[in-house]
Amino acid sequence: MAAGRKVAYFPTILMPYEFISLNESFEDGVSASFSKAFTRCSIASISKCETQDVARVLSASCRHLHGNSAAIIGADKYFKFPATRCLTRHFHASLELLARHRGDDSMDLKSSKRPKVVTSGKFSKRKKEVKPAVETPYVPPKLARTGKSLDKTIEIFEGMTIVELTKRCGESISTIENIITNVGEKADSEFDSLSVDIAELVAMEVGVNVCRMHSNEGGEMLPRPPVVTVMGHVDHGKTSLLDALRQTSLAAKEAGGITQHLGAFVVGMQSGASITFLDTPGHAAFSAMRARGAAVTDVVVLVVAADDGVMPQTLEAIAHAKSANVPIVVAINKCDKPDANPERVKIQLASEGLPLEEMGGDVQVVEVSAIKGSGLDNLEDALLLQAELMDLKARIDGSAQAYVVEARVDKGRGPLATAIVKAGTLLCGKYVVIGSEWGRIRCIRDTARKVISQATPAMPIEIEGLKGLPMAGDDIVVVESEERAKMLSEGRKKKAEKDRLKKLEDDRQKLEQEMLEGEENEENADEKERSKRVEVPIIVKADVQGTVQAVSDALKTLNSPQVYLKIIHAGVGPVSQSDVDMAAACDACVVGFNVRNPPAEVTLAATQAKIKIKLHQVIYHLLEDIGNFIVEKAPGTLETQVGGEAEVLNIFAVKGKGKNKGEDLKIAGCRVMDGRLTKASIIRLLRSGEVVYEGCCASLKREQRDVDAVGKGNECGLMIEDCNDLQVGDVVQCLVNVNRKPKFVSSESGAVRIEC
Ligand code: GDP
Repeated sequence: MAAGRKVAYFPTILMPYEFISLNESFEDGVSASFSKAFTRCSIASISKCETQDVARVLSASCRHLHGNSAAIIGADKYFKFPATRCLTRHFHASLELLARHRGDDSMDLKSSKRPKVVTSGKFSKRKKEVKPAVETPYVPPKLARTGKSLDKTIEIFEGMTIVELTKRCGESISTIENIITNVGEKADSEFDSLSVDIAELVAMEVGVNVCRMHSNEGGEMLPRPPVVTVMGHVDHGKTSLLDALRQTSLAAKEAGGITQHLGAFVVGMQSGASITFLDTPGHAAFSAMRARGAAVTDVVVLVVAADDGVMPQTLEAIAHAKSANVPIVVAINKCDKPDANPERVKIQLASEGLPLEEMGGDVQVVEVSAIKGSGLDNLEDALLLQAELMDLKARIDGSAQAYVVEARVDKGRGPLATAIVKAGTLLCGKYVVIGSEWGRIRCIRDTARKVISQATPAMPIEIEGLKGLPMAGDDIVVVESEERAKMLSEGRKKKAEKDRLKKLEDDRQKLEQEMLEGEENEENADEKERSKRVEVPIIVKADVQGTVQAVSDALKTLNSPQVYLKIIHAGVGPVSQSDVDMAAACDACVVGFNVRNPPAEVTLAATQAKIKIKLHQVIYHLLEDIGNFIVEKAPGTLETQVGGEAEVLNIFAVKGKGKNKGEDLKIAGCRVMDGRLTKASIIRLLRSGEVVYEGCCASLKREQRDVDAVGKGNECGLMIEDCNDLQVGDVVQCLVNVNRKPKFVSSESGAVRIEC
């Protein structure tokens, strides 16, 4: 046992934790560990101190937290600090586990009897003991790391055995068993089965990525509607087609034709069949979903404009669909246009290797006009036929598997996610983990905004009750309890952070290497771009932890290439003196959401330190306020704009004064048609709409007098430096540099962003 390791116990009546033991050296680790253990109780800090001091600090903290004399007496009585014993760290583990590790029952904890082991072989099974689910957040143990790549992904599934997981992770059985024990589960034999959540936690701890395999065994499989994504070249009519289709949807009919963009909508047919359309056109959304492993799309509608034909992004869309193994239905759009040529488009597509149906292949082609609304029925029929061919079926009963297609923060309802159920039934009231966020589904709404109690496969729904903002493509996992949800969410966040740091480190090393080699590549350019970005430090305070997270996430949506909101601290409670001190040190702005006004002395200190405190009760107002603050801070981009335009009405030649020998000097007699011509600006000369020259203004005169500027409607004489090629009818533009600031943009749905 390592010398200097000590252990501290807390009484159960005081703390949400039954006991805490530490295996770090007291002197070095106690402060961090106690702070960690107490996070739920919001103790600000416990500093490095002697053993007796620790007791006093904890006692005082308990008194502060509980304000109850019985608790204080308990605290003083129960804190014990044996100096020589050492325990493996078991944050948040059960009493039984403590007793088992200690092998005694000091602290009056009842030790559970270990089941008798019948050892008649190496892998003999022990009797499985039923243990309650882990009840507190997961704190990963410190592992001796192998130099494993963080890119490794393993498949995990419900009921996999420890030995299976061990093989996939490439770790030893004892390591995996240790981790399992640390997450509060029992590992009696390597043939014990694990829940998929525990398998994920263990895998994350080992440092590998996971892919959850879902089994449909035993479940009833029923046909389900297809989920369709619209892709194609810019301006070929994707948005218009989606709009036209949305108008034929049930929700649109119910809402009198006006529907909000929700990320997905359903079009119901008279036959009772329906199609789910993902409402975000373009390849970026498709790629983002795929990047997170969200195989949501069943069919891609490839939109090609009949008057334009196959273009680069058409080919890109074909490549995306092919690589995802998703069948294509071609919609030749804009067939109403006089120059529409659908036949040419078909030949182009066929020559790009798309096997069209009418040429003996299996890709259906439909001619439509999104603007006129013609051909939409045919398109819907083609999609249903494609779905039938694919025999799309999903398990209806059992726990749901779903994906987020869009997420946003609503002014009043907090983070909302539009999701599509892939299999099973998603029920209201369930605890879910979405990507690295978690929540309890408070309300499910369909696309007509009706509150429903459950959602079945291919149904787009909006869910409410999340603690943070998930991302498109995140998977939705239903878990058994709040504790499990928190634990998984925390584990995923930690893994993501670890991966991010590793990537940063890798990038840094790469950059260093490249700089050493003197290579100027794109990465350097990116870095330069980033360094130009203005950082705005922010401190976020809110009433509860969930809100802190939601506000922080919502603020992050305001990040733009010009301004980066750096949240230097986020916490629960009103704005305090220490927040102001921190803000003063970092020149930060303090944002308070749903918190009461700070005490007068804090406000005074903030005013003296010129610290802005922004308090709000409505998330939209907060985002608008910070959005405008960001716009103020943004450096802006220099843009060249036309400040004035003049027409050349006459040319006056001054004999022999040209630059070349014997050449006449030409002066343009102009009338300013728009804006102002200024002498200090660059002058652009246009002939028949084409730029023929750009240069400085050599002379600007009005009625024989030199002037600096000439306004709209006035006439003037103009000479351009090094340009003698002036003709009547030419247009002269005066170019000015303008610093364009970004704009704060908000949409009907409450989504906000900064447009640069
Ligand atoms: P996206 O960039 O692919 O989303 O294309 P949009 O839906 O924004 O459409 C680009 C332009 O094409 C818009 O001006 C539309 O009005 C027009 N457009 C879209 N569909 C049709 C159509 O079927 N017929 C005609 N004549 N114009 C269309």
